Amino acid sequence: MLDLLKSEFTRRTILHKAGFGLIALSTFGVAGTIFKPNRTLAQAGPAPAKEPSMPPEKKLGWAVVGLGKFATEQIIPSFGECKRSKLVALVSGDRAKAEGIAQQYGVNSKNIYNYQNYDTIRNNPEVDVIYIILPNGLHAEYSVRGAQAGKHIMCEKPMAITVEECQAMIDAAKKGDRKLMIAYRAQYEPYNLAAIKLAQSGKLGKLKAITSDHGRNLDPKDPADRWRAQKKLAGGGSLYDIGIYSLQAARYITGEEPQEISAMMYSTPGDPRFREVEENVNFVLRFPSGVLANCTSSYGYADTKRIQVFGSDAALELDPATDYYQHRLIIKRKNSNEEQNIQEKNQFALEMDHLSESIMANKQPKTPGEEGLQDVRLMQLIYQAARTGKTIKV
Ligand code: NAD
Repeated sequence: MLDLLKSEFTRRTILHKAGFGLIALSTFGVAGTIFKPNRTLAQAGPAPAKEPSMPPEKKLGWAVVGLGKFATEQIIPSFGECKRSKLVALVSGDRAKAEGIAQQYGVNSKNIYNYQNYDTIRNNPEVDVIYIILPNGLHAEYSVRGAQAGKHIMCEKPMAITVEECQAMIDAAKKGDRKLMIAYRAQYEPYNLAAIKLAQSGKLGKLKAITSDHGRNLDPKDPADRWRAQKKLAGGGSLYDIGIYSLQAARYITGEEPQEISAMMYSTPGDPRFREVEENVNFVLRFPSGVLANCTSSYGYADTKRIQVFGSDAALELDPATDYYQHRLIIKRKNSNEEQNIQEKNQFALEMDHLSESIMANKQPKTPGEEGLQDVRLMQLIYQAARTGKTIKV
């Protein structure tokens, strides 16, 4: 039996690796071709979201602010898979780049803005939602200006640098009666949703511990990593950028808020990348149910995006957990490893459509500004715990 399981496991591993190549290639292909599931499904994923009662052709118009790596490689191509959202405007400091993208994705060049005339977007009825994909230090300013221009806001993680900035964003959205959502894509991604369901349904027994590790090796030659080493633009180091995924995982897997935090922080002495921001942060969270989460965050180690959940009857491993595609979920019991094959879906399209649907139905999105503020507040407490060496009560 074990051997049989083992060979099935290997076969799936090979299929997984073959599929990865296909999907990785298509990511850079034509919009609308990415994230198509390419393997036989042993198990159906979570039930598809119920369609709201609105005309099937209705899509809200979105403007993307900042045409960097993440916007151009992931978000803009994903509009091709949206049911409720379409790209209608671009905001960039580089007109030529914006013209090229506009042409490629069918955006009218009259809908290209720069950072100076950004506020005039208020006069453009085609734009319903503004998606902020700028360095973290600019999130608050452009979200507030966007809400003041009468538009709904999607903002990348981390929401902003300080709690005060987050509050200003929430206040601006409330004042203008606009929706504000933080782009926590993992909370819309089918493998993470399945992990939450498994953990919270009791299928693993009583939850005891969670570990989550997020790391990568910061590359100073990559322009997208240069601002990440500057405190003013990044707000913090690995914790603000990717440790936030470990923090989110601990919170969404338990569905609880931590009561105590301890932490340790360390940066390699003399490494010029870590003059202003930290390299490593390890932190422990204690939740009311007694679950302890051990989380790591690093700008020094090779790509890692992993979540493990330990229950009294079984453990769950999601690795990669928070990648853009090709996640893997394994349930580990005493004598067996059971891989869950769940249909991959474009998580970016799912999260964008979630905001469009929330706007159309006038409902609070699942990850509103308050969710982003809570993470910024907790990250500040993690730094405080690391600096003082004391366990902090939340
Ligand atoms: P990037 O550097 O590739 O893009 C940033 C864009 O902002 C660039 O086009 C740059 O020209 C523009 N910009 C405008 N003003 C700037 C200034 N003063 N300094 C520097 N750049 C300026 O970075 P990125 O990796 O695309 O990250 C952008 C945002 O998206 C960040 O908040 C990041 O955390 C977030 N992000 C999220 C995910 C995710 O999976 N949700 C993944 C990557 C990045």
